[in-house]
Amino acid sequence: MGARSVQEIWEAALGELQIQVSKPNYQTWLIKTIGLSYQDNQLVVGVPSTFVAEYLDKNQRSLIEKTLIGLTHPEVKVVFQVNGRHHNSPANHSVQEKTPLAEQASPSRVNPKYTFDCFVVSNCNRLAYDSAIGVARNPGCGYNPLFIYGGVGLGKTHLLHAIGNAALANNIQVLYVSAEQFTNDFITAVREKRTEEFRNRYRSIQMLLIDDINFISGKEQTEESFFHTFNELHNANHQIAITSDCPPKSMPLLEERLRSRFEWGLIAGVQPPDFETRLAILGAKAEQRGANITSDVLELIAHRAQHNVRELEGSLNRVIAYARLVRTLPNLDLATQALEDIATKDSESASITSNLVIEAVANSFQLSPSDLKSGKRDKETALARRVAMYLIRQETNCSLVQIGKDLGGRDPSFVSHACEKAASDINASPSLKRKFLDIQQSMHSKRKPRNP
Ligand code: ADP
Ligand code: MG
Repeated sequence: MGARSVQEIWEAALGELQIQVSKPNYQTWLIKTIGLSYQDNQLVVGVPSTFVAEYLDKNQRSLIEKTLIGLTHPEVKVVFQVNGRHHNSPANHSVQEKTPLAEQASPSRVNPKYTFDCFVVSNCNRLAYDSAIGVARNPGCGYNPLFIYGGVGLGKTHLLHAIGNAALANNIQVLYVSAEQFTNDFITAVREKRTEEFRNRYRSIQMLLIDDINFISGKEQTEESFFHTFNELHNANHQIAITSDCPPKSMPLLEERLRSRFEWGLIAGVQPPDFETRLAILGAKAEQRGANITSDVLELIAHRAQHNVRELEGSLNRVIAYARLVRTLPNLDLATQALEDIATKDSESASITSNLVIEAVANSFQLSPSDLKSGKRDKETALARRVAMYLIRQETNCSLVQIGKDLGGRDPSFVSHACEKAASDINASPSLKRKFLDIQQSMHSKRKPRNP
């Protein structure tokens, strides 16, 4: 391996993988991994949980090994290891030590930082906010479940914790858990034959807050387990609140009966904040941080960071940090400088393009990309076009306007409708679902690292 340490090799591999897989994929599965050792052409990668090990082993081993070949040896093999325990085949399960489920899940508590008080309400999130307050005040009596959906960084997790904090203040027993943690717990419980413990843990609480439920969609066993948990809590009038990156009807891989459960209660969306809201949020955050920032600087930040609140906070933090570094108060010049490379970095990281999706979908439907881009309206082309629109929505940051332009010059409302239709088509047909997953998979594995 020459002079390079295993850490350096794995860092380099991660750098390449980051370009080859989608952003959510990278963040879910790869970001928390580390290079542990490299010996006899075997590279050991440390991963945070068995679930991640299993996923990577099953779905990304070949991509990872291909990437490593260029960095190490043509016959390199990768092994995933959880907390110091090997995981490279199911046979190893038996040697894993047991950890109490409750202990594994201990980080999943309500975060006192996220309260209703520090949440800025506007038209973009009012329904979600009001219903969250309602649920916190009268758990189990009103909307059950409360289902909050929206894009990243729009305050869904914040609202979920806020419900939890308000409920805790009323001595209600609350459990906040990410859907990933729920899945992890479930898998561990099954493997270690401790499903009874799992059931008790989840089904005895008065309020269950599940974050990012989209994570379990398509994971049949977890869905099944969640379904039963849901029913027991619901029958006992215990409150359930859920967040997701899209509404139930747009989750093509979600089992029908779970979808209908989610639709029993109230579904509330959060939208990206408009300029005034962004400004109000910035003002509130600056005040919280005790930073004295003039309104022209706040306006600049609000203009530059348009997509979500997380981005907004990141920009604000950057400006504050930059000003501290050069020991002045933030002014317009300084803020412009501090924000300069953020925008460019953002566009570089968008590595799946709409053209790539169009190509993959056209291939799979045995059509040509120009068919999809044309105005052709026969059934098959229209279906392929819808699927492409839906997939572009999922995999890229393209706007509805852009997607419409790329695919036959349609207006945004047409695109939005087409995406919903595609989701329900995919739902209704197992063979289309299979096809959809294959396209998605092929796109991720075929993608070449882009030239710098
Ligand atoms: P999501 O779960 O939707 O991806 P988060 O709840 O994690 O987003 O929000 C990202 C960050 O933005 C958090 O720090 C959160 O406190 C903040 N945030 C989001 N929306 C608001 C809002 N309306 N008012 C104040 N802070 C917000
Ligand atoms: Mg969240």
